[in-house]
Amino acid sequence: MTGSRRLLVTGGAGFIGSNFVHYWCEQYPSDHIAVLDNLSYAGNRSNLASLDANTNFRFVQGSISDRPLIEELLNDEAIDTVVHFAAESHVDRSILNPGDFVQTNIVGTFTLLDAFRCYWEARDKPNDYRFCNISTDEVFGSLEDDAPAFSESTPYAPNNPYSASKASADHIVRAYFQTYGLPTLTTNCSNNYGPYQFPEKLVPCVCTSVLTEQPIFIYGDGQSIRDWIHVRDHCTALDKILSSGKPGETYNIGGNNEVKNIHLVHKICNLLQELVPNLTVCPHYLIRFVADRPGHDRRYAIDATKIQTQLNWHPSISFEEGLKHTVQWYVEYKDWWLPLLNRNDLTPIHLKV
Ligand code: NAD
Repeated sequence: MTGSRRLLVTGGAGFIGSNFVHYWCEQYPSDHIAVLDNLSYAGNRSNLASLDANTNFRFVQGSISDRPLIEELLNDEAIDTVVHFAAESHVDRSILNPGDFVQTNIVGTFTLLDAFRCYWEARDKPNDYRFCNISTDEVFGSLEDDAPAFSESTPYAPNNPYSASKASADHIVRAYFQTYGLPTLTTNCSNNYGPYQFPEKLVPCVCTSVLTEQPIFIYGDGQSIRDWIHVRDHCTALDKILSSGKPGETYNIGGNNEVKNIHLVHKICNLLQELVPNLTVCPHYLIRFVADRPGHDRRYAIDATKIQTQLNWHPSISFEEGLKHTVQWYVEYKDWWLPLLNRNDLTPIHLKV
């Protein structure tokens, strides 16, 4: 696309969405961004507050399941690019309340996608419009320790309601390219870390537990492996895919950082000891092993060869550097995360990996 773009970013008040919106406004100040987010427990309006004075930014509180609202937004904002982050995103909550995940991740994605298709068709199918569906590596299921990493042709084998709902959405998006020719892109990214992540997820959970002297709960033996990428590297990958990705294709995104959960927890504890010299407890002593999550995937690993070779994208933030900055962020921004701990409108989950 030449000239400036007009983006609809769903879920832009969440962790990755808000990092993406800040990234995009820095890189492309003349582009227009409308954020649609229903401010679920994971959405935080304050993540975007610094953009409120920007005339190219608009925030709308609402749901991806609200078709009339989406139609109005697409038309009013003359959107040409949808970047779809909005989701229920926590595996433990999907085990407790699977219906919420079906409603948001499947029905919500369908509602947004179909509204965009009709809008695109009504405008004579511009070939530079894009619908970018942000998915996850979890759709591929679990890997044995010695198995090759997930590639774009690895069959889907989701093992929990979260990953099954994301896999369903991916299939619907694929079908809209095959059936209607809608210019879709799907990305399957590995575990992200960075600022603004809700404190129920592993990295902020460990930081906030230590800083409030609470136990750190680890599933099973802690030997599960995740492949970590800094959220800013995820944003640069999405930038490449939006500008040069081929419609109808899927792209794996990963940072090539496979780490066992227990090793990651110890690394974060070490960093906290270094960054907060006056800790009154030894963080490592807060670790508690608890019964494993049902259907817990053992290992995820992403083979990102396709995006590296076809789009010349490479992650630029080393795990050591990115993790240190991230831990430092949670140390500095206690005002951001403290009110989010133990919210009484949330079903408590003590298994947080
Ligand atoms: P998040 O839970 O932090 O944010 C989700 C956002 O979506 C929140 O702001 C929430 O308010 C909003 N939302 C929820 N339901 C909505 C609805 N019905 N309408 C409008 N907005 C709604 O999640 P995240 O970690 O930022 O993940 C964003 C996307 O990236 C998700 O689709 C997730 O599956 C995917 N993903 C995440 C990771 C990761 O490591 N976090 C990795 C790969 C892919």
